[in-house]
Amino acid sequence: MRAALLALLLGALTSGAEPPAPPAPTTITVATARGSMAVPVAMERGHPALPAPLLQRLLPVAERRLDGWAFVDFADQPFQFLLGAPVLLYAGRLLPLVGGAYVARDTLFVPLQWLTEYIPAMFAEGYRYDPRAARFEEVRLGSVVTASYEAASELGRRSGFRMAHLVVLDAGHGGVDNGNPGRYLPRGVQEKHVNLAIAKLLRTELEAHGIDVLMTRSTDTLIDLRQRAPMCRNECDLFVSIHVNSMPRRRGYERINGVETYFLGDALTEEARRVAEMENEALRYETGAAAEMDADLAFIFKDLHTNEFLRESALLADLVQSQAAGVHPGEDRGVSQNRFVVLATATRPAILLETGFATNRRDGAYLASTEGQRELAKAAAAGIVEYLRQYESKVLVGTER
Ligand SMILES: [Zn+2]
Repeated sequence: MRAALLALLLGALTSGAEPPAPPAPTTITVATARGSMAVPVAMERGHPALPAPLLQRLLPVAERRLDGWAFVDFADQPFQFLLGAPVLLYAGRLLPLVGGAYVARDTLFVPLQWLTEYIPAMFAEGYRYDPRAARFEEVRLGSVVTASYEAASELGRRSGFRMAHLVVLDAGHGGVDNGNPGRYLPRGVQEKHVNLAIAKLLRTELEAHGIDVLMTRSTDTLIDLRQRAPMCRNECDLFVSIHVNSMPRRRGYERINGVETYFLGDALTEEARRVAEMENEALRYETGAAAEMDADLAFIFKDLHTNEFLRESALLADLVQSQAAGVHPGEDRGVSQNRFVVLATATRPAILLETGFATNRRDGAYLASTEGQRELAKAAAAGIVEYLRQYESKVLVGTER
């Protein structure tokens, strides 16, 4: 009764004025034909904002940053945010915002207002926002919403993750491309077989942690090098390529042993260049002119410094390497950067694990053994799980209520 009276009074007092803005939700639901998820709303800068990496999981969002600007595409429409300033540039027009986009903990946060007001206004056919339900959805949703995303995150929650995760695993080589000849692998066993065996065991380990896995190949077949990493996009978190190393015949070559992890970058040592040449060799099995390829690659590598996934790749490489080196019988050869074609087309954090040397007797026996393969798979999984936990706390910290 009192409350009703108060409401009436307040109504009288404020009539004619703008209704007060509803308080920002603590999370919004993003619902698409590919699934739905809760996205936490950050208030750390005084206005509601959303972590862009989470939006990318289900929405056609791409982002890159340059010179204080964030370039955010939505369904291939380019939006430009001046970081820290409450403005948005679209189609040559400056649009006002309550608060601007910003970067925190290496993550881009975009204004809630952009997603819930501007996007539905510009893509009325495709998207709408219901402020009362705090629900942003694809209009042509129909009855095709799958429960898979919720199911995945439910499994994830039970194993300690708060978001759904997807990892693409790439067993190197395959089909006519056997990989390295593997002097100390048993007769009939080639690098491609070892890679696939470890990748499959790694899949089992990750799935046990509630992480979804997509394999670039699950049989003995050849996939083009440049088609592997692009399988990790949108909702995919990271890309891991598995290989076996080998040394060319020269004095003492059989002594070289151990595990190492690479991410994309300039090859700084002669040894790194040798490994890149070996792994890029698969290109000769593929269609398309080699010269055109080289031009392509030169372009990609020139763009390296603007690739914001490199820092994340380095972190992932570090975590996987230290776990793998902890179980491997050979040396800890550390983390290096290298010009691997398979990593050059990645748009997510991506690493290549060289699990050991088939030209070393002990490494070869270890890699060919089920125990060795299982041990390495467990170790790599532990590194990946740790990376995803750190990623979650980076993206979600400060957004928790
Ligand atoms: Zn290989």
